[in-house]
Amino acid sequence: MENEIFLLKMGEIVLKGLNRRRFEDRLMANVTRRLHPYGRFRVYARQSTVYVEPMNGECDLDRAWEALKKVFGIVAMSRARGCAKEPDAFVEAAQAYLNDQLLAARSFKVESKRADKSFPMTSIQLSQYVGSRLHQLYPHLTVDVHNPELTVRLEVRDFSGYVHAAPEPGPGGLPVGVGGKAVALLSGGIDSPVACYMMAKRGVALEMVHFFSYPYTSNEAKDKVLELATLLAPYCGRVTVHIVPFTHIQEELRRSCPEPYFTLAMRRFMMRIAEMVANDVGAQALVTGESLGQVASQTMGAIACTEAAVQMPVFRPVVGMDKEEIISIARKIGTFETSILPYEDCCTVFTPRHPRTNPKPEELDEIEQGYDFAGLCQAAFDGIEQVRIRARS
Ligand code: ATP
Ligand code: MG
Repeated sequence: MENEIFLLKMGEIVLKGLNRRRFEDRLMANVTRRLHPYGRFRVYARQSTVYVEPMNGECDLDRAWEALKKVFGIVAMSRARGCAKEPDAFVEAAQAYLNDQLLAARSFKVESKRADKSFPMTSIQLSQYVGSRLHQLYPHLTVDVHNPELTVRLEVRDFSGYVHAAPEPGPGGLPVGVGGKAVALLSGGIDSPVACYMMAKRGVALEMVHFFSYPYTSNEAKDKVLELATLLAPYCGRVTVHIVPFTHIQEELRRSCPEPYFTLAMRRFMMRIAEMVANDVGAQALVTGESLGQVASQTMGAIACTEAAVQMPVFRPVVGMDKEEIISIARKIGTFETSILPYEDCCTVFTPRHPRTNPKPEELDEIEQGYDFAGLCQAAFDGIEQVRIRARS
């Protein structure tokens, strides 16, 4: 009862009517999995709040709290101390739990919420009672109901009372897994990790594919991508990175593809192989880090050509963002510093001097007659190495 607990407010989830239960269960499962390295916790939901309760004194509460800031589906989170549902127990708990803040503040107010309608006081009466007792205990404080430095929040729930510390914003979004599953094309650049983050935020579970052209791209380049996946794992949950051997396809293209089409032809291979992976793992969409007009292969015409190589919907969550906006998200989520490490990507190894900027899908269909598109895709697919990634604890 005396333990500190976490209260995680569910966001959009509560709006989802009949799906609510599914959302709630998924969020609780994701929370439970993320907390696993930090000790044993009881996780349960009541009244659109997920409660996280440590089961013994060995839990690492501070690190657990940090980990939860990356679990999508939480709009606001607060730490709280449980107490008996008696007016004096609220006073004692506030005194014990918020003593430093009560000493530091100059003005305060008490705010109560009452979910348990059998509690004998109204929320206003409880606030007044606890407020006046705290005022006696901390005579330097003034009461300011409009603009207090400290708000002491009390909650009377069905099974316990709580005194809260100030709530913090949560990561928002939807619990990963409720939005289906997609395969993301993860390069070593800045954009695709941000695209992964944004799709995970909408509740999409991801698997990732990376196209690797050894020896044109080095093992350091591959390690960099695995590091990016590790940095994304706290947001995405467990992820698998499918490393696709791409050397043979690039050499084949260099031999037989007209140079202005090289990048597009290569990107069509990537899309098709990613789609094969998606079908294999039961994913329903692809995700890329393309941003309209950023490079020649990301004009509207070029995107039409690469998209025409696949049947599945392709999500491009950063399509309308400026590089600066993408970079600011990359910094926020912690992938930027790794993304700018100077290892070459397979796209930068063979770059045409004069890429075709307004290509038609038919032109690429015709070029693909010149080599065994399906056979090359199948061979690359058969050579995939799967690497399972876990979040660091
Ligand atoms: P990024 O910063 O994500 O690398 P970019 O601006 O460098 O993007 P391109 O290199 O044209 O753009 O690639 C566009 C998209 O194609 C990437 O965002 C990514 O989704 C995918 N992609 C490119 N190269 C690879 C690769 N080697 N492996 C997997 N996906 C890739
Ligand atoms: Mg790139």
